[in-house]
Amino acid sequence: MKLKFLGTRGGVPVSGADKSYGNSTSSVSVVLNGVSYIFDAGNGILNFETNLKINPAASQIRIFISHYHFDHLLGFPFFQPLYSNKFEIKVYLPTFGNIMGVEALQKLVSPPLFPVDLAVLGEHVTFLDFKPGEMIFDGEAISVETKLFTHPGGVCAYKLINGAKSIVYLSDVENAEANTIKDLVEFCFSSNLLIIDSSYSDEEIVTRRGWGHFCISDIHLLAEELTKTAIYLFHHEPSKSDERVEKDSFLLRSRYRNVHIARQGDEVYIE
Ligand SMILES: [Zn+2]
Ligand SMILES: [Zn+2]
Repeated sequence: MKLKFLGTRGGVPVSGADKSYGNSTSSVSVVLNGVSYIFDAGNGILNFETNLKINPAASQIRIFISHYHFDHLLGFPFFQPLYSNKFEIKVYLPTFGNIMGVEALQKLVSPPLFPVDLAVLGEHVTFLDFKPGEMIFDGEAISVETKLFTHPGGVCAYKLINGAKSIVYLSDVENAEANTIKDLVEFCFSSNLLIIDSSYSDEEIVTRRGWGHFCISDIHLLAEELTKTAIYLFHHEPSKSDERVEKDSFLLRSRYRNVHIARQGDEVYIE
């Protein structure tokens, strides 16, 4: 499995030489058996190589949306493979309560917010609604486990499973329930890699409870348990410079050598 961090920033795209950990919002790709699995469609998705150069060899694309906040969708209507029938694209959309995924996406991709609506996309694009907790199967070898976590409006965690190897993606989550950490440890147990919201320092969280994000102490609790999982800090708060991202997580990374900062453009291989 080859994983690439396409966009690592939370909230809004940023610019500046001091933001080298990432300027584009959430998106991660995993290429597996020639199929591309993309988690979230922040403007980072526009860094996906197939978007830059149409490559018919990579014609199978699966997109998994974690939730419908703008920073996780803003690249979607600009993703070029959606407009080319050289691709077969499945878009997986979690249902939260009575909010159907396609309806949420349609709000963004329709006038007056966008010039055209989803109806212009050809039959090569399929939208699939599911309830978090359901298992998604992709062929015989690949499955994706899903689970609901706490975030305003809800968020879906994904575990991409290929035989004994697995990767967990959970961008945007708050430690607001008594069992959040326990549930997440259970969900990730034996996974090779976890991509996790690390938006706030322990000082910042004090005034930001209810905003839907983890703080560094939450990741201490995870790292304590998930000793064999590579943990990547993700969804960097938009105002944070590289120095702040490094400083906020310094003690965490010193104590747990399996904790790393996700940097946009970096690739990780899981064999
Ligand atoms: Zn977000
Ligand atoms: Zn969010």
